[in-house]
Amino acid sequence: MDKHLMTLDDMLLEHVLFHTQRSHSWDDDLLHISDIGQCPRMTMLRLMGEQKREVFGEEKRKKQYMFYLANWLHDECYAAWGEQGILIEKECSIRGYLPPGWTGRFDAVIDYEGGFRIADVKTKAYIGKTAQFPQLKHMFQVAAYHMFLRDDWKLTLNPLLFYIQRDLQHFDARECAVDVTASTEAYVMSKMNELEAARADLPNLPNILPRMIKYTGKKVKGQYAEISACTNHDCTSEWCDYSGATCCPDVGEDLIAWRNGDEWCFNDDPMSELYRNDVLEFLEKEAMDEYTGG
Ligand code: SF4
Repeated sequence: MDKHLMTLDDMLLEHVLFHTQRSHSWDDDLLHISDIGQCPRMTMLRLMGEQKREVFGEEKRKKQYMFYLANWLHDECYAAWGEQGILIEKECSIRGYLPPGWTGRFDAVIDYEGGFRIADVKTKAYIGKTAQFPQLKHMFQVAAYHMFLRDDWKLTLNPLLFYIQRDLQHFDARECAVDVTASTEAYVMSKMNELEAARADLPNLPNILPRMIKYTGKKVKGQYAEISACTNHDCTSEWCDYSGATCCPDVGEDLIAWRNGDEWCFNDDPMSELYRNDVLEFLEKEAMDEYTGG
């Protein structure tokens, strides 16, 4: 079964690699509109040309696959909008509309539902019914495109975000309009100012994002409970290029804890010791009710 799936994956990857023609230019030394809402430290590390975390094997393959599949899904959207006659422009740099030192590129401007508007495509591993869309960082990104292009591009309607599941066998998508209010605009400007201040302060780096513990699972068998908690930053990036070596070596570590009588016990991972108090607090607050059935 696995072998069969791998073969299917490889075929899809080849197809996608063949059909996605895109320049991958990315100005590492400029601030990007898509940096708004991301971890400022990550952006500053990029501006400083910091070495990115190397990925190998399956992780590398997964990243490549995701990248090309995302490009392909973007192309499919442009083709569909083109066929409907509503595509005005696609993948256009807006550097000339932004303050010096900034750049950005919108996915598309479409003439849809009675006016011109920004349309941005985001691909997700899974859409599902309960996931929260739109994501804040995407809202601020398209709001910024809208703010800077509104007059010159005659954008009369609010931007749209299209979330598409990166699973060709189970199509799912979500369309979300983003209301660009005065407070959204104020937030975008404050984030841009914050990033500019961080850039002026280099080589000092913004702080590492606050650590948090993510509750990842629970198994209860009779008197025995096993609970996994994952210590991590409150990272806004799923796959930060600088996690690990540059920021913290503990991203994604699993901690196992179990209840023995009145006491919580931990696996002997060094992380358990380091985060013992945090984990205890987390377990008591978040997991105890579940464990006791309360
Ligand atoms: S690992 Fe976390 S804190 Fe460090 S740059 Fe990445 S997102 Fe930011």
